[in-house]
Amino acid sequence: MENSILTAHEDAITDVTTDTTFTPWIDGEQYLPNQDVTIETLDPAVTRPIAAIPACDGDDVDAAVEAAWDAYDREWEATSPAERASMLREWVDELRDHEDELTRLECLDTGKPIEQARGEVQGAFDTLDYYASLCRTIGGDQIAAGNGLHAYTRKEPFGVVGQIIPWNFPIWSLTWKLGPALAAGNTSVLKPAQDAPLTAIRAAQLSADIFPDGVVNVVPGTGSDVGNALTGHGGVQKVSFTGSRRVGERVMQGAASHIAPVTLELGSKSPFLVFPDANPSKVGQAVADGIYYSSGEICDAFSRAIVHTDIYEEFLDAFLEAAESYTCGDPLEEGTTMGPLTTADQYESVRKYISLGKQSGSNLIYGGGTPDGPLDRGWYVEPTVFTDVDSDMRIAREEIFGPVQTVQKFDSYEEGIERANDTRFGLSAGIGTEDTSLAHRAAADLEAGIVYVNDYGPILPEAPYGGFKESGIGKDLGEASLDHYLQTKSVYMNLENPTC
Ligand code: NDP
Repeated sequence: MENSILTAHEDAITDVTTDTTFTPWIDGEQYLPNQDVTIETLDPAVTRPIAAIPACDGDDVDAAVEAAWDAYDREWEATSPAERASMLREWVDELRDHEDELTRLECLDTGKPIEQARGEVQGAFDTLDYYASLCRTIGGDQIAAGNGLHAYTRKEPFGVVGQIIPWNFPIWSLTWKLGPALAAGNTSVLKPAQDAPLTAIRAAQLSADIFPDGVVNVVPGTGSDVGNALTGHGGVQKVSFTGSRRVGERVMQGAASHIAPVTLELGSKSPFLVFPDANPSKVGQAVADGIYYSSGEICDAFSRAIVHTDIYEEFLDAFLEAAESYTCGDPLEEGTTMGPLTTADQYESVRKYISLGKQSGSNLIYGGGTPDGPLDRGWYVEPTVFTDVDSDMRIAREEIFGPVQTVQKFDSYEEGIERANDTRFGLSAGIGTEDTSLAHRAAADLEAGIVYVNDYGPILPEAPYGGFKESGIGKDLGEASLDHYLQTKSVYMNLENPTC
């Protein structure tokens, strides 16, 4: 069995890498950085190398920003929304022709189950398609100014934008960044995470004959090197980042050095409030999906189930039954529901939190281990549940970014809302109830940018996605994101008196 997993993955790695060379992508072509350093990306299910990618440094970021400005000044700035919409659609068509390849790359690079990888690749296409449509709605306002004056606003792109994405949703987040940025008329220099850069590089390669050279640039490298250089670059007019709160703060500082606006999509410690009238099986499934999808490596994971005492036992039974449907397996196999964690650091970190949970006096009632046998080569952590959790415990306060659920109780509406909001984060929140009025009231009282009722997901490109409090600034997705990539100019036009 072990050998069959290893063999299947080695074959798949050969398949996806034989005809593709993974390098940075600058000025419409494969680019070899000045320094002779590579980053190696690993398949987390079998901890085998997939590809060694030449790593960029600050000089290469300079080259990419220069190429992006050349493209902007030369031709991109003058493109019409209709032309940009048409190119975005052409790109989607090209990517669709490579759906299987992109899906397998994403699965191997992140360890996501193949069905989840496929759904996210399709979500990426849908996002680009949405921004291709939205592109043609960019407009401005006419301002009532009285006779003799014509006042109006223009929406203009920034020029070159810097974008940084994480390893947990590589291709999907790439399109959350590039879709609105390109639709708005900007060119981009984008840094993928060193732990999962392959689909970003491949997607850029597949844009080669579509966008003018220099419109899309992808600069793999480390955060401390490339990330810092990009956010602090005086030629980058706007910065958009998805990742940890800690790095988000540094990104803001880098952007502040040249007063570039930032969009930040950071982490969270999202609550799901289960009210006494909730449907246990529906809500148990929603909470399990919210913490175990993508092995819990999701910024909006429902990592705090906060359950009314009256439904506690019933909910817990239903939740555990749903949790059992998540079992560790080979990500390449259809039907697998849980893959490994994506990085070795993340594996160590999640295990450390599980130890902390055990020492803190909470009760580990499910999981907590790592599978042995054929999967023991990978960075797997079993679906895990802690009960008897206090709000001040570290497992209840810090983002674990893994398949670890904490369960707490509440006795009154006020206590539930207070407990849910007792966090510095505010990305998402969930509500389990059959009472529509209660759902609306709780949705208003919860301090979160996204609220799900009786469900986890979906994520629609039409709906703004982003957090309150320390979960971020601004929004990805929706019209809001397009607007973040545009700056507004007010024009006052003095109308001369008619002379004839
Ligand atoms: P990071 O925030 O470190 O990484 C996100 C991206 O930022 C990566 O591309 C990374 O590059 C880059 N980066 C790192 N340092 C800098 C820097 N100084 N300047 C600019 N960019 C930088 O997240 P991690 O990957 O380390 O994950 C750790 C924690 O972050 C997780 O446990 C989770 O809490 C949170 N997280 C949240 C995500 C979300 O979706 N909101 C996504 C990922 C993580 P590189 O990795 O190549 O060095």
